[in-house]
Amino acid sequence: MPEVKEFQAETKQLLNLIINSIYTHKDIFLRELISNASDALDKIRFLSLKDPNVLQNDTDLRIRIEIDKDNNTLIVEDNGIGMSYEEVIENLGTIAKSGTKNFLQQLKQAQIGNSLTVDKENTIINLIGQFGVGFYSVFMVAKKVIVETKKWDQDKGVRWESDGIGTYSIEECEKANRGTKITLILKDDLDEDENYLDQYKIQELVKKHSNYIKYPIKIKWEEEVESGKKKITNKILNSMVPLWNKSKEEISQNEYNEFYKEHFYDWNDPFDVIHFKAEGTTVEFTALLYIPSKLPFTFFSKDYKRGLNLYSKNVFIMENCEEVLPDYLGFVKGLVDSPDFSLNISREILQKNKQLKVIRKNIEKKILDALKSKLENEREKYVEFWNEFGKVIKAGLYQNIQEKEKVQDLLLFESSTSDKNMVTLKEYISKMKEDQGNYIYYAVGESKDIIENLPQMESFKEKGYEVLYLTDEIDEFLIKLMHDYEGKEFKSISSSNVKIDEKFKEKEEENKDLLQKIKEYLKDKVKDVRLTDKLKESPACIVSANEAISLNMEKTLKNLEQ
Ligand code: ADP
Ligand code: MG
Repeated sequence: MPEVKEFQAETKQLLNLIINSIYTHKDIFLRELISNASDALDKIRFLSLKDPNVLQNDTDLRIRIEIDKDNNTLIVEDNGIGMSYEEVIENLGTIAKSGTKNFLQQLKQAQIGNSLTVDKENTIINLIGQFGVGFYSVFMVAKKVIVETKKWDQDKGVRWESDGIGTYSIEECEKANRGTKITLILKDDLDEDENYLDQYKIQELVKKHSNYIKYPIKIKWEEEVESGKKKITNKILNSMVPLWNKSKEEISQNEYNEFYKEHFYDWNDPFDVIHFKAEGTTVEFTALLYIPSKLPFTFFSKDYKRGLNLYSKNVFIMENCEEVLPDYLGFVKGLVDSPDFSLNISREILQKNKQLKVIRKNIEKKILDALKSKLENEREKYVEFWNEFGKVIKAGLYQNIQEKEKVQDLLLFESSTSDKNMVTLKEYISKMKEDQGNYIYYAVGESKDIIENLPQMESFKEKGYEVLYLTDEIDEFLIKLMHDYEGKEFKSISSSNVKIDEKFKEKEEENKDLLQKIKEYLKDKVKDVRLTDKLKESPACIVSANEAISLNMEKTLKNLEQ
């Protein structure tokens, strides 16, 4: 005779909510079951490493899904470690998980008395979304659940059965094989898009959430060969190989590239791949990151989704998690897998999560290091990257100017002496002339040609001072904000007080009257008229009166105002 037992009070409360108030995200039940099966397989595999006899003749570790349309049932079965009688009571009758306990505490705070209003119900649904409910999520889709399980070292199996309302029954049973079989008798009122008896739906869910479970997830796959004739094959639904868990040496460049193109919807090979494990730090994680070679078309639009995908032990948790990637590196694609992520981590929780901050710091450093290494070792490739992403990096630096040390060495500029490889700031200062003072000179213009024809360039060329060419609209704003590089101040060749020659003051004194005359003649058109030694062939040039704003910036700002 089966024993009928009451669920623990907290479990009852939770089940009540699951059955009566969750109408969205029902799909996750399958992910939860597969993840439990995978854990159970991990456990038996671990035991078998010490003693291979543990597996007996059931050596092919796998998960099996069966669709039984006639009986409206879905079965998920594993040949993992199984559960003993006591373990079933402990695991499927109570709430041991600290996450779920937390959930219930929060729930108590959200609920005043026991009556539910619509507002409170929303709170609860949000809470459920945040904490997740593991095994119990089966009751979102099933009106009845039967668990048959046999622990690897026991002769008898256990049968557990419940409709999720108040009680469950449990008894010993005969079971031939080790492991756990979970039978869901599906609810009758599921929506059309919740057809869990459709093999394609199951395939879609497995691919989405459980593709990298390392054990095969098998299903009997039905196909119509000719009209009326069906062929049934054994199909493995998941790809099983989480590329990121292999060691770098085992992975070819081609494999990395194919994975990228398949998962991140890009036709082009990536510019760079960054694959690393962080161990022994506060958080353990593996990251597989890709720097694209082309800027996505949508990058500057609302449609572009930043962030990395999150996995926990090969189980997909979330797409585009922005919290693990600094904003200015938003073009980076990839994923992070950490055993420390909970399967039911929510976006709200993410924002407060300290581990994620650690992960983000690590990831940021790795990306910057990778870019620096490309810059140093594969300059031509880096220049190509720069031509695509330079704008993004510069905009990022502009927004995080307080952290300029991190990024400033990635900048490239064209200059009066650079070739197609352009010049970094570090290279610039290493080439500075002794009498150049503490200044990094720059000129602003729409193109290289325009700048080269500026009258002001003449004397700089003659003296052999390198001049950076700022041709991007953002460049000058950025340079102004940066103020200096390694203590060398940025100075525009067009700013009125660039003094190349100190003796120059005297000459200005001598020609005071002439200057005054010209000034009177030009009246309101100019603020001041000065001598300059910046010109060699041109007789005169216009400079900006305001140190802070150049003629070009004025132009840009005016355009913005319109
Ligand atoms: P979690 O997986 O986070 O521990 P669940 O509610 O998903 O929480 O599962 C509760 C427990 O039930 C698991 O920790 C495990 O001990 C047990 N369990 C669930 N499914 C299986 C299974 N297929 N095989 C063995 N044990 C299982
Ligand atoms: Mg679980």
